[in-house]
This record gives sequence, C-alpha cells and structure tokens, in this order.
Amino acid sequence: MIRKISLVTVLFALATTSSAGPVEGQTRSSSAVVLYEAARFIPGDGRQPIANGAMLVENGTITKIGPKGDENLPRGAIRVDLGDKTVMPALINTHGHPGFQRGITYSADNFTRDTIMEDMNRALYFGIAAVQSQGIEKGEVMYQIRADQEAGKLGGARLRIAGRGIGAPNAGPGGATYAGIAYEVTTEDQIRRAVQELASKKVNLVKIWVDDRNGRAPRLPPNLFRAAIDEGHRHGLQVNAHVFYHTDAVDLVNAGIDGFAHLVRDKEMDDQLVAAIVRRNVYVMPNLAPEWNTYTELPHWLKDSDPLMTLLKDSVSRPVIERIRKAYENRDVTAVDRARAQYAILQRSLAKLAKVNAKIILGCDTGLEDHLFGMSEQHELESMVNAGMTPMQVIVAATSRAAEYLKLDKMGVLAPGKEADFLVLDANPLDNITNTQRISRIYIKGAEVDRAALRPSLTRVVTN
Ligand SMILES: [Zn+2]
Repeated sequence: MIRKISLVTVLFALATTSSAGPVEGQTRSSSAVVLYEAARFIPGDGRQPIANGAMLVENGTITKIGPKGDENLPRGAIRVDLGDKTVMPALINTHGHPGFQRGITYSADNFTRDTIMEDMNRALYFGIAAVQSQGIEKGEVMYQIRADQEAGKLGGARLRIAGRGIGAPNAGPGGATYAGIAYEVTTEDQIRRAVQELASKKVNLVKIWVDDRNGRAPRLPPNLFRAAIDEGHRHGLQVNAHVFYHTDAVDLVNAGIDGFAHLVRDKEMDDQLVAAIVRRNVYVMPNLAPEWNTYTELPHWLKDSDPLMTLLKDSVSRPVIERIRKAYENRDVTAVDRARAQYAILQRSLAKLAKVNAKIILGCDTGLEDHLFGMSEQHELESMVNAGMTPMQVIVAATSRAAEYLKLDKMGVLAPGKEADFLVLDANPLDNITNTQRISRIYIKGAEVDRAALRPSLTRVVTN
C-alpha cells in the first residue's frame, strides 16, 4: 500500500556513512525501501535518459522509475539525493578468463578460489556486475563459486561458466598455461558427448574453438561444429564460437551459432556476413583488446591523470601497474604498424555491425595476462566508441544486451522488476563514454558495494 508520509531525507554525504561492515564479497545487504533521485537515469535498453529522475528500490528490486515528482513513498522509505550524478545499470562482461593472474605471475597453478574471487572483486570494483567465463576452466572451483554466489554466500561480480571449452586436438586456448583444459574432439559422437557432459553440469553456455589457432591445430570441421550447436540447442544451451577466419564465420552463422567470441580477423566482414548476423540474431563480442598493441608510447588511459588509472591505483598492486606500463617502452614501430593495420580491420567490421544495429555485446577476453578484470571492460567501451559505435549503443551492448545474451533476465536494465544493480557516475557517459570510469558508487541488488573495504586486498602485493 503506497501512501503519503513524511520522508526521512538522507543527504548523499550522510548516506555514505553506513556502519554495516562488509561481509565476504563486500556488499551490504539492504532490505530498505529507498528512493534515489538524480540528474539523469540511463535505462540501458536504448531509451533516452530520464532527466531529473527518481527510482524506487524495494528489497533490492526496482519497483518504479520515472521523472522526479512529488513522490508518494511507502512507509519507512528513505530518499537518497544523488544530486547531479548519472545513474546507469552496472556493466556485464560476456567474455572473460578468470583465475590465472595472481600479482605478476600468470599460471595454471593460480587457478584457485582466491584468485578467481580476486578477479570477480576487481571486476565489481570497476562496475562490472557479471562475468561470463569462456571455457578456460579447471575442475570444480568455478561451479562452487557460482553456487555460493547464487546462495548469497559470496559477492563479487557474478560468475557465469562455460565449463571446459571444446576444440580439435591442440586447438583449445593454447599455451602451456592452459594445457589439457579443453575437450579435444575428432568425431561427432565425441563432441556431442562433451556437450552432454557440460549440460549435465549446468554450464551457462558452450564454448567452441573452430579456427586453426594460427596454424598450430586442425580446424574444427563443419560437421563437428554443427553437431555441437545442435546438441547445445537440444539442451537449451547457446553455443559460442571462437573465430578467426571470415569463411568459418559464414559457415557458423549458417549452422545456427548463437554468438561470436571475437570479430573475424583475417579480413573485414563483408556485407552478406553482416546481414546474415543480423538476420540470424547472432551476438557478437568485438573483443578489441588488440587495440592495446597500437600505441608507440604510453596510452592516455595509463597516464596518471586518467580516470582509468585512478581506478587502477585503487585496485591493483604497483608491480602489476608498472609492468603494464613498461610494455609501452621501446615499442617496435614496425610491429605497431602491423598491429594498427590489423586492428583497423576490426574497427571497420564493428562500424558496419553497429550501423545495422547487430547484437553487439561487451566481451573483451578479460583475464589474459595483464588484461585485468575491470580495467579491460572499462577500456573496451572507449575502444568501441572509437571504432564507430555511439555511446548509447555501447551502453546497451554492455548492459541490457549482454544480460539478454547471458539470460540474466533481472539484470542490465533500470526498469521495474529488475534488480537494482547500478552505477552512480560523476559525469554523463553519453557525453563521453570514459565517464563510466568516474564511479562515485556501485549498488548491487540495492546494496552499496563497500569499495573502500575491497581496496586493501586488491592492491596487496602478492609473492607466490
Ligand atoms: Zn577468450
């Protein structure tokens, strides 16, 4: 029953002084009824922002959102005035590889609950509410983390899993670090059994590698990937492909693939492929991480004054930051030129996809060495805009559309019935997409993330 009562108005500054200590996972539970008012709410589904808006959150769920008015509030509701801030849904990353980097080491031995949770906590610190792991997963630890998060016993960005990805022999993720993780298959029967095993373990989607991994492995033959897609769909699972070659992408779209973990990289996507992607509702992760290799000197986002660097200093140990920066010393100009030419192919394909409103989703191979959680996603948004997407398209890709792909049906949009997972930003990301990095606060299910409590563990220098 909603009726008019006198309100307890809580000023923004006062609201930050909640005395509840962090539980494991560092979010505070909230059963309060809270009305948030702010200069602008970006819904995340492509609708224009609500100026001078108000959003009512009850027990962690959004129950009302619209222009600020003379609100009738339920009894006991509190009002939080966020002033000139911008509110938008928390981000969702559809392509990550948690668990391998611990401080400056990167190895399979690091793949523990602690390392994975550090990645999930760092992701959350940067405003990422959910991460889909893409098939470089060992043992049971990720299943346990997912179960503990679903039971409310563990925080961090919510982990979604693909289990062990599937490829031809030696075609999986590659490198000694990942040896033996993927299924290696050569027959339709084997690939169907792999998918069945994954389905029985209740993975969130299936990952396949189809290309020849730069010549080191055989391609996954079309009859095999067709079998994987068919078997996945029989079990209600989307199948998601690591691609490189344009020709594979064409075959995969025709075979009913659900998502591409990368853009094709041997050439620009032609108009027929782009049209087929749109027609068949294939989701595409741009994965613009190769942009990192296009600089001859330290990029702006690693300079001291940059908002991304501010986030990094708050959440990453100094030796790791130093190593990431050091990679930009003494760059080989020829290699950079080559990287730029290759990267321009990705940018042109993405611009084409954006122009026809293909289903682009945030996914950026986060968790490869020095591609840290949180940092990679945040920078990817800028790369997407630089490639030709509008800030609004990028926000949709990183919120509602990513949630739709991952079947996180309560996430990714500020609308009644959705979880109150949102970022409070100091500036408007529709003006400049890097304003998603100017994070004032983060809320998950209506509870503010205690970011200060996360900093000590995230910045700790670890020695293995
Ligand atoms: Zn990947």
